[in-house]
Amino acid sequence: MFNPYTEEHEQFRKTVRQFAERDISPYVEEWEKAKDFPNELFKKAGDLGIFGAHYPEEHGGSGGDYWFSVAKAQELPRGRCAGVTMALLVQSDMATPVISDLGTKEQIEEFLKPTLAGDKIVSIGVSEPGAGSDVAGIRTYARKDGSDYVLNGSKTFITNGARADYITMLVKTRPDSGSHGCTFFLVPTNTKGFRVGKRLEKIGNHASDTAELFLEDVRIPERYRLGEEDMGFMYLMQNFQSERLIGAVSGISGSKLIVAEARKYGEERVAFGKPIIKREVWQHRFVDMYTKLEMAQAFMDRVTEQYNEERYVRKENVSFETVKLISMAKIVAGELVMEIADTCLQFHGGWGYIEDYSIARAWRDARLLKIGGGTSETMTYYLAKLMGL
Ligand SMILES: Cc1cc2nc3c(=O)[nH]c(=O)nc-3n(C[C@H](O)[C@H](O)[C@H](O)COP(=O)(O)OP(=O)(O)OC[C@H]3O[C@@H](n4cnc5c(N)ncnc54)[C@H](O)[C@@H]3O)c2cc1C
Repeated sequence: MFNPYTEEHEQFRKTVRQFAERDISPYVEEWEKAKDFPNELFKKAGDLGIFGAHYPEEHGGSGGDYWFSVAKAQELPRGRCAGVTMALLVQSDMATPVISDLGTKEQIEEFLKPTLAGDKIVSIGVSEPGAGSDVAGIRTYARKDGSDYVLNGSKTFITNGARADYITMLVKTRPDSGSHGCTFFLVPTNTKGFRVGKRLEKIGNHASDTAELFLEDVRIPERYRLGEEDMGFMYLMQNFQSERLIGAVSGISGSKLIVAEARKYGEERVAFGKPIIKREVWQHRFVDMYTKLEMAQAFMDRVTEQYNEERYVRKENVSFETVKLISMAKIVAGELVMEIADTCLQFHGGWGYIEDYSIARAWRDARLLKIGGGTSETMTYYLAKLMGL
């Protein structure tokens, strides 16, 4: 049987599981109601080495491979709070890979190390009011002024945006260009001219903050530019792969937990003299869900193995072949997670629609995976291009 996990991975998995069950799960209802959770959670996760397990030691990590990150993404959903899982994955897998890839020694010291330690909170700032799927359409512009850049524009939908200490931000350095004129910057949120707008009211993932950001003559020194000028789109495409894969992996693991909870419910809930799980129609639906989850898991493992081989063993960029598989994995997970949440909600009857049961929250939260980090349609659009269709 395919098993990439060593004893060290399993030990780390146990740490993340304990963290999720002890430091997240008991507070979910409170945090969801408050539409917030304490920033100290980042510090707790950082102290346990949760963010940095798969980063090099010289970057403040533990030097592990990508399977550590996968083990983390599989265990965090035990916290039963997709909003918190997302916030933590932004910190470990969505806003930071590009810093590890491109960061100067000073950038690693000032930004990446304190982030992996949980002392600083980060967001990834790409989407704008007028450009989400079509990243090349972003309009936030960085004008060179001596040895500084002056940034103007706005970002939206930014997870952790209201609490972040800095944003890994993609902006245009050539205003009239498409994808070829984008550049990454590290933008501290205490810089003059930076403002957080309103937190967006979402249908799910309530505990996480999703913010609008405004930049008005935000002056950034050249040393906060990540990598080469105008190369940002290429870097983003690499960074997206980590974001999409970890979202897919985490989604599938969350779905397994939902099915397990639903099964337990169905063994206890009696209708017409029998536990509802004993009805053939539901047995078939459960078999269908287990089958699809097995297939999805096998596919996630296959994609992860290839990603790990390229990025962590051979230390290369992600190949087109892997981009293809990751895009497929994102589609598979986005669709399946929603299907399973919906089936399990239905299985709960009226109680599935009531907030006392976590399936109601899971159903709302599940809807995001088909959208965030690249919609299913955009993934398909890229796949058609990659496959020369
Ligand atoms: C809760 C939440 C958290 C988020 N967090 C972040 C974050 O931290 N950082 C960040 O930068 N962004 C974040 N996003 C933004 C997210 O990545 C975008 O919403 C997503 O990429 C879609 O962009 P859009 O909303 O502009 O939709 P649009 O691009 O306007 O798409 C609208 C519709 O058109 C479809 N469409 C677009 N292009 C094509 C095409 N070529 N072919 C077929 N159909 C197409 C889409 O699939 C969609 O159905 C977040 C979003 C949400 C909701």
